[in-house]
Amino acid sequence: MKRLNTPQQQAVNHTEGALLLLAGAGSGKTQVITTRIVHLLKDKRISADNILAVTFTNKAAREMKERVGTMAGRMADGIIISTFHSLGVRILRRDIRALGFKPNFSIYSSSDQAGVLRQAMRERDIDPKQCDPDLMLWKISGLKNRLISPAEFKPAHDDKLELATAAVYPRYQELLKGFNAIDFDDIIMLSVRLLQSNTAILGHWQERFRYIMVDEYQDTNASQYLLISLLAQKHGNICVVGDDDQSIYGWRGAEVQNILNFGDDYPGCRVIKLEQNYRSTSSILDAANSVIRNNPIRTDKALWTAGGQGRGIDLIVAADEEEEAARVADSMMLEQFRGKLPWSDFAVLYRSNAQSRAFEEKLRLERIPYIVVGGQQFYERKEVKDAVAYLRVIDNPGDEASLLRIINFPRRGIGDNTLLHLNQWSLAHNVPLFEALGRVAEIADISESSKKAVGAFHRMMTEVIAGFGRTDLGAQVNALFNRLRIEDELYRTLNDASQARKRIENIEQVVNSLAIFEAQTPRATLSAFLERISLMDEEKSEDDKEHGHNAVTLMSLHSSKGLEFNHVYLVGLEEELLPHKRSIEEDPSCAEERRLCYVGITRARQHLTISRCRTRRKYGTIEERKPSRFLAEIPEHLLIDASTNGEAKDGETVDMAAAFFAQMLGE
Ligand code: ATP
Ligand code: MG
Repeated sequence: MKRLNTPQQQAVNHTEGALLLLAGAGSGKTQVITTRIVHLLKDKRISADNILAVTFTNKAAREMKERVGTMAGRMADGIIISTFHSLGVRILRRDIRALGFKPNFSIYSSSDQAGVLRQAMRERDIDPKQCDPDLMLWKISGLKNRLISPAEFKPAHDDKLELATAAVYPRYQELLKGFNAIDFDDIIMLSVRLLQSNTAILGHWQERFRYIMVDEYQDTNASQYLLISLLAQKHGNICVVGDDDQSIYGWRGAEVQNILNFGDDYPGCRVIKLEQNYRSTSSILDAANSVIRNNPIRTDKALWTAGGQGRGIDLIVAADEEEEAARVADSMMLEQFRGKLPWSDFAVLYRSNAQSRAFEEKLRLERIPYIVVGGQQFYERKEVKDAVAYLRVIDNPGDEASLLRIINFPRRGIGDNTLLHLNQWSLAHNVPLFEALGRVAEIADISESSKKAVGAFHRMMTEVIAGFGRTDLGAQVNALFNRLRIEDELYRTLNDASQARKRIENIEQVVNSLAIFEAQTPRATLSAFLERISLMDEEKSEDDKEHGHNAVTLMSLHSSKGLEFNHVYLVGLEEELLPHKRSIEEDPSCAEERRLCYVGITRARQHLTISRCRTRRKYGTIEERKPSRFLAEIPEHLLIDASTNGEAKDGETVDMAAAFFAQMLGE
């Protein structure tokens, strides 16, 4: 408590009633939430069960939980510090029966969703060539974020996509329900619906969560907003913190008005401002302030730091993306060597995930450990999804998308035609697909050999499901994969043995992951494991324990929110990249892109490097690039042209570089 400044302490102590903390980056908002939880537990003797803290990412939730655990010890046991989605899942697992689902529902990933959508489109005679399924999923997601159900959706009559969506959306929801599954956006929408429609359930959760805190409140969407409002209605002890300058998810339905109107929602609400930044040097803060000042609509904030001027901001202007990556890597090696720093002090932040490739290649070449946050993730890889689909079917045979994934993996001669007839028959007779497999003998138009294969698969899975015990999950799954001869299948289907090995290693990792989960979680269940996989969003690769905590972080600006690093490389500061091309077209003032740039700059604690390229390759051809408008908004005196690095300011750099390379060569 002593460490906090006066307004921070006021915020910690103001536990009863509504509280809004609207303050700039690095001013200690998250710190206040953490300290406040500890204060509630230790000084106010509030039970951990009665406290709820919601953050934006799993990583942030994990970190906050760890910190609270360190400070409050056993008193923090059972506390819920989670993302919106984990909170929703928790509510639904207990109460979803009231909406006609079974509590062991599956949570579908985007590729599962795509499968269900395609089926719904087929049944509604919508041609995927005429109407892009991805766009439709995007549309449906937007509707769900605004809590618009199929019955409530009023399509615009001149909009083809909307009309098609109006036809498909109801069927899509029906199919999901039939599979006892929900999609990611349903998690929040159904939680809200549950609380709105059932006063007993609402009462239970309101009584449970007497003290509620929400971080990054500026990026809540309509459904998340309502979820929190419902929960807080009874006790009114709600503390939200955020920064309107860091609202960067407008494109996904976030409504910055939620934080700006908070005072109207909770009359008598206490508003506290924090103005001291504890994260960055004043050079970094000045740059950030100079950029964000150019946004037309914002609440003015005075942010200052006692941290001192610090180093200037290095600017790298590279010929192309390869050189950009090389110079960023060189700079990191030099800094790391000079300061004897852990690699985890460094982060490369970019606007779009595709930019990571060049940096990944360069870092790999230099043998610098790194983790990529976002992009193709472990649990999105095909063979991993196939393996996990087995677990899903064991957990919930009604999960038809997973059933369809494994029915012919490993190949057992069950073709598309057979699947089509199975599907049609199960629909026509209103029989779950898994049951239809067992009654394949009754279905016409399927060859005898296919019937045999389907019957054998059904018998095997029935036996596996019935015999699946509650303990030794990892060992049981390993035995199943051996029995399925998945390794042989991968060697057979992939001509390239090294490719096959990589995939086999991935499958092995699935078993490892389950075994580790089981070892670490009391009363671990398959459901809980699968749920964890479903919830691991963009940050999965952080779990990559391979190089544990000592690795450079590569991530998109969007996923960097709330985090901080000693050395930040903000790369690709070019027009049409940051600001992004699509955003320039949609909003010429580029306000949200500017906030993204502000978020990036303010992640840096000690040192910021900005880079841009003069040219870049696009589908193989070379394109000229213009410097980002945001670069011009940073006062020139803060920037140091890093191309003059050789003439070191203190005569030190050249020697250090020589020493560094000597070390690299093992001399
Ligand atoms: P963002 O807007 O980026 O989420 P924030 O407002 O949540 O930032 P924090 O992450 O809570 O800011 O704090 C930024 C840094 O300042 C952290 O390293 C935190 O430990 C430190 N800090 C916060 N308050 C104080 C304080 N009173 N004294 C010293 N350090 C502090
Ligand atoms: Mg924060």
